[in-house]
Amino acid sequence: MSAVRFTESRNPAPVPAERRAEILAAPGFGKHFTDHMVTLRWTPDQGWHDGAVLPYGPFQLDPAAAVLHYAQEIFEGLKGYRHADGSVWAFRPEANGERFARSARRLALPELPVADFLAAIEILVRTDREWVPTGEEQSLYLRPFMFASESFLGVRPAKEILFSVIACPVGSYFSGGIKPVSIWLSTNYTRAALGGTGAAKCGGNYAASLAAQVEAVENGCDQVCFLDAVDRTWVEELGGMNLYFVYADGRLVTPALTGTILEGITRSSILTLAGEQGLKVEERQIGIDDWRDGVDSGEITEVFACGTAAVITPVGRLVWDGGSIESPGDGGTGTVTGRLRRALVDIQYGRTPDSHGWLHRLA
Ligand SMILES: *Cc1c(COP(=O)(O)O)cnc(C)c1O
Repeated sequence: MSAVRFTESRNPAPVPAERRAEILAAPGFGKHFTDHMVTLRWTPDQGWHDGAVLPYGPFQLDPAAAVLHYAQEIFEGLKGYRHADGSVWAFRPEANGERFARSARRLALPELPVADFLAAIEILVRTDREWVPTGEEQSLYLRPFMFASESFLGVRPAKEILFSVIACPVGSYFSGGIKPVSIWLSTNYTRAALGGTGAAKCGGNYAASLAAQVEAVENGCDQVCFLDAVDRTWVEELGGMNLYFVYADGRLVTPALTGTILEGITRSSILTLAGEQGLKVEERQIGIDDWRDGVDSGEITEVFACGTAAVITPVGRLVWDGGSIESPGDGGTGTVTGRLRRALVDIQYGRTPDSHGWLHRLA
């Protein structure tokens, strides 16, 4: 049980129902936010306090707020799924809460107990439940985050912290529906090094990935693939998604967690589901040459990326400085990729029994 109490102030000027319906019909991703947000403050003396549900709106932030200078910030991403009976559910939100606590430790931020993390999400979704869309593959994306709000330019962990949750209705992550993403292999940049923040979900990792993302777009690609920082050989992950390789002999391989890869909840769920579907699941190091040669020889039959936002997305072309290789398969969603995607999405939307106890009712 959460010990935190939230005061509630209703938005006096919520988005009119007609406008909301328009937004829900074509929500895009991360563009339109609901009528409310949750905030919760922390100081060393008071711990977590001042829980509130407030009208969605800007924060008052001092220009010297530490986050603006030293990026002491973490976040999470999860979704509320509308089931056929109108109820709203989250998928393994405890795992998000636990990861948020691990990220907090790495960024020297105070840990928010998982029960409080869940309570914050629940109260926001209950308040704004009309914003949870009903359409195919639509959901309410939830963005919990925490940052150093103290105004102080000395370098040390901040003593005033703001936690908040905002929410936005979303459709498919990639506009234009599920089509294979093309991947730029970054050799100028790495995402994370051992001992760094690669396993934490922090804004700084994303800031550091953007120059590589720009390079990807300049080279006609959708996303970047990062290699390890030491040997520049081992496949790690994309800027915000984990990777999987389907082999012709029935193996499913994903890069092992080495401390530099973000431990995705989608990744972890796929390990379980794939095992149940009879695939031989392996977490191990996979070299960039294994990828190129495997696709070339036909040993690798499908490649896909996974994460909460885009669920499971087939990977098409791999492009690097001086060459490229076409996606295996027919340029659509491969058989194994499609089967895993369906299994996952069917659980999330309540179309198949939740035999793993992964769903958590929000509203
Ligand atoms: C969030 C994230 C993922 C995917 O994690 P999920 O829990 O599956 O959403 C993968 N890589 C990075 C870098 C991430 O930030």
